[in-house]
Amino acid sequence: MLKLSGEVLAGEKGIGVDPLVVRLIARQIAEAARSGVQIAVVVGGGNYFRGKELSLAGMDRSRADYMGMLGTIMNCLALQDFIEKQGVETRVQTAITMGQVAEPYIPRRAVRHMEKGRIVIFGGGLGAPFFSTDTTAAQRALEVGAQAVLMGKQGVDGVYDADPKFHPEAVRFDHLTYSEFLTRGLKVADATAIALCRDNSLPIVVFDLLAEGNIGRAVRGEKIGTLIGG
Ligand code: UDP
Repeated sequence: MLKLSGEVLAGEKGIGVDPLVVRLIARQIAEAARSGVQIAVVVGGGNYFRGKELSLAGMDRSRADYMGMLGTIMNCLALQDFIEKQGVETRVQTAITMGQVAEPYIPRRAVRHMEKGRIVIFGGGLGAPFFSTDTTAAQRALEVGAQAVLMGKQGVDGVYDADPKFHPEAVRFDHLTYSEFLTRGLKVADATAIALCRDNSLPIVVFDLLAEGNIGRAVRGEKIGTLIGG
């Protein structure tokens, strides 16, 4: 289960989708899929809206979260298009039913798609406010029987003891337990997602998404970034 944050898809612009970045990521995902690994993707929506930020600016939190969820679906369609241009079949399944643009989320059908070599892209988060797409990735991974959650990040190659953008002396962890991650209050993934993975012994790998070949390395289970596990 590959988790892509929306921010990554926006590239330098910071908002919307940058087709060059989406193409780069799509090519890497398609290559990894051709090697025979079953891949599902959860896409975030931070390049459009984050419910929490809109609510701080005065919007009702639930309504703002629904805007956030809808944003993730636009990202799914962009990613679907670029992966299919690489010649790999995909299906988008959304947690909010939207028959004209995607299938509804049906876990058993998602598994069947993957068995047939299709990449399944999950949009709309969990379909419920107050959650994140990190938590969605963990939940969908558990429901479709994925072996790991691969969290691709922009410009950071793992989990550090402090934000390396502001603290150049920050040290990267090769391995962290779920409890260490939570007690240190690290922010790379949200606590609900980590707790869900901990309770179900699902490993998480945090890695630099944009470095060439990294998606393939993560998917093949090579040592890369930071492993959060038991
Ligand atoms: N969201 C939600 N429920 C979910 C998933 C997402 O309400 O199950 C909303 C929430 O407002 C969130 C936004 O969608 O801020 C975009 O998702 P997220 O922040 O996880 O995207 P990312 O940071 O990964 O780009």
